[in-house]
Amino acid sequence: MNERQYQQTEYDDCGRLRVAPKKMVQLGDVVFGSGRPIIIAGPCAVESAEQIETIAAALSELKVDILRAGAFKPRTSPYDFQGLGFDGLKYLSAAARRHNLPFVTEVMAVEQLNEVAKYCDMIQIGSRNMYNYPLLRAVGRLAKPVLLKRAFSATIKEWLMSATYITAQGNDQVVLCERGIRSFDNCTRNTLDIAAVPVMQRASGLPVIVDPSHATGRRDLIAPLSRAAVAVGADGLMIEVHHDPDNALSDGAQSVDLNQFGAILKGIEQLCQGEDK
Ligand code: PEP
Ligand code: MN
Repeated sequence: MNERQYQQTEYDDCGRLRVAPKKMVQLGDVVFGSGRPIIIAGPCAVESAEQIETIAAALSELKVDILRAGAFKPRTSPYDFQGLGFDGLKYLSAAARRHNLPFVTEVMAVEQLNEVAKYCDMIQIGSRNMYNYPLLRAVGRLAKPVLLKRAFSATIKEWLMSATYITAQGNDQVVLCERGIRSFDNCTRNTLDIAAVPVMQRASGLPVIVDPSHATGRRDLIAPLSRAAVAVGADGLMIEVHHDPDNALSDGAQSVDLNQFGAILKGIEQLCQGEDK
């Protein structure tokens, strides 16, 4: 499609984004966009074989749909824990397989992509890489679902264009993740743009999930914002969960423990049951 054709199909006469046809994204028997919110949970980072095994075992008991954890970590400071790299990926993969959980993990560079794709069920493109067009094109050529997080500085249109970089290469298995944007306020780490959920669902047709952990940076806000996300119609949630958050190597302040996570799941279940009535 050339630029002119694109402008004609994606925008109406007032320059507003048209409503796109709805697509579902499937990972085995997990379906995003079917009406049931998909739960992705796990630690910020893989810290050791034991840590990811403990968390995967507990999350499988709680019947989460997808395990998450980073092996390659995009940290703001180069002096912070950077993840365990390929060793971490192997620990994560072994724990996920042992507990029969599909898993999603972040890829930060094109060079890592093929090796990581051999292991994972879904590839995460993090907020900081939403503008990495060679990486977006490369995941667009794979036959593997992609989780595209919104850059914390991205407009809706920029985010939509980043998704289009992937889908234009042939991979339409893209789930979008709203994870908070930068605002003038610093009482939360970022500001959850809840309106972005229905806006992007309509504009892209793709499933949109919410990550309340990076959106707020605060464990006490995960429960209410998870409920808000489900109430607004999000296709899923991605929540950072750690068995010992106060000693986590990254993002402990925003990670909930296993008991807190169990209670959050109950709250969401109740909300979904209420909607069915
Ligand atoms: C993450 O989900 O592990 C992460 C680093 O989040 P973000 O890219 O949204 O900052
Ligand atoms: Mn994190």
